[in-house]
Amino acid sequence: MLALGLAGPILAEEPKVCLHPLGPYEKELLAVVKQGVNDTFGLAATELPALPPPKKAFYPPRQRYRAEKLLDYLDAVIASKSGCTWIVGFTSMDISTTKGWTKDWGIFGLGNMGGTSVVVSTKRLHTAKVSPGLLAARTVKVVNHELGHALGLDHCPTPRCLMEDAKGTIKTVDAETGVLCDRCRALVEKRLGRPLPVRKEARQSKEHGP
Ligand SMILES: [Zn+2]
Ligand SMILES: [Zn+2]
Repeated sequence: MLALGLAGPILAEEPKVCLHPLGPYEKELLAVVKQGVNDTFGLAATELPALPPPKKAFYPPRQRYRAEKLLDYLDAVIASKSGCTWIVGFTSMDISTTKGWTKDWGIFGLGNMGGTSVVVSTKRLHTAKVSPGLLAARTVKVVNHELGHALGLDHCPTPRCLMEDAKGTIKTVDAETGVLCDRCRALVEKRLGRPLPVRKEARQSKEHGP
């Protein structure tokens, strides 16, 4: 990969994304995620061994896991894995967080802006009659969206940008192109200190990148 001498906070080492399965997960989707992360960010992703989710993240009233507690757990994991710049918790269990007045709201994924950990669940991407191709496209979009947050991106007002706020709606995820708009793309390039790969839009999109 070409490292250009651009201004901005260039990372010291070649950044690496680590994929950390938590409890049950869809193995075939993890391979797709690996490719999707590389296509969008030009980052290598490696798989860590699957581990059960931490008990303290379990939320008994709804029988699911609190996403922010999973992020705390993953932050601790990353501290012990010097080779990982960012870590993606990946699971098929339901995850939730507090959203506005809703104490426990089921979500697709969570990532803090500029954080080191994100977590993604495929549970809510399984709508009725979803095809394997659509499920894969949704999973890659959600992982890349959350990684976008970790790379410092906020939600984006540009319609169909990868960083658009899906607001928990699968229709918005499906309508997104799966690629970053010019503004978001420029911000990530500044953060990584190098150009991103040529854009590859999601299968179902009619538009084409440059
Ligand atoms: Zn978001
Ligand atoms: Zn954008």
